[in-house]
Amino acid sequence: MRQVAFYGKGGIGKSTTQQNTAASLARIGKRIMVVGCDPKADCTRLLLNGRRQPTVLDTLREEGPENVSLTKVLADGYGGVKCVESGGPEPGVGCGGRGVITSIQTLENLGAYTDDLDYVFYDVLGDVVCGGFAMPIREGYAEEIYIVVSGEYMAMYAANNISKGIKKFAARGHARLAGIVCNSRQVENEKELVDEFARRLNTKMIYFIPRSKDVQKAEINKKTVIDYDPNMPQAQEYLNLAKIIEENKDFRVPTPITIDELEDLMKEFGIVD
Ligand code: ADP
Ligand code: MG
Repeated sequence: MRQVAFYGKGGIGKSTTQQNTAASLARIGKRIMVVGCDPKADCTRLLLNGRRQPTVLDTLREEGPENVSLTKVLADGYGGVKCVESGGPEPGVGCGGRGVITSIQTLENLGAYTDDLDYVFYDVLGDVVCGGFAMPIREGYAEEIYIVVSGEYMAMYAANNISKGIKKFAARGHARLAGIVCNSRQVENEKELVDEFARRLNTKMIYFIPRSKDVQKAEINKKTVIDYDPNMPQAQEYLNLAKIIEENKDFRVPTPITIDELEDLMKEFGIVD
């Protein structure tokens, strides 16, 4: 079972990428469980065609630990992908990261991690510099980490911070950076910039996903592109990405860069002057 995490700045396209990749892998017969680790609880929406299911943390709070069961918190989505949303703490009270671990441990205790699973995907909010969101890495769940980024400064800034977290916990665990996925924002020289950024982090840009209206068209219909119309050009992009992930074995300890280096890189590629 490969435990794969998708990290990246909020709004960068983690959930879109993650769900389309899961749907692509499901199409080639892979068994997947997606564990949404974003307090927004929207990491499985497209796989579930908009159906909302109770989050693990809400169920724990409202019904008590003894009444949580997999039938309440785990739903079958597109292609048999198992979908779970961790949910979040009560606003202003708990720590989101700790909540995520409570949720993952609850799933483990309930027997959600069955031997027939090929992949568990974690979709984790990663722009908060709070240690809480490094929990899936720290606690040894997220082993193979993909960072979703674009050629925009804040997205790369967040990706660099996430790399720092991975490096820190790689020393005493299995967490490794498995690659950068560029989800295009149509920034000038974006492919070259992100490619070089990945190289400096001691990894590779494993895929460049073009920006496409197909994504919105499918999203409005509460579907992944793969589900909505597998013949759309954008569907082929996610199928390609899924194949690359399926074959990837190049997992590294990242080498985060300094803010100065990041700024110089942006200048070098003509993003800022
Ligand atoms: P995150 O999970 O990182 O917060 P989302 O996956 O929810 O981000 O993406 C935010 C928005 O960006 C979505 O509403 C989606 O429509 C849009 N989006 C993501 N990827 C693409 C893409 N490749 N092309 C066009 N729109 C995209
Ligand atoms: Mg998301």
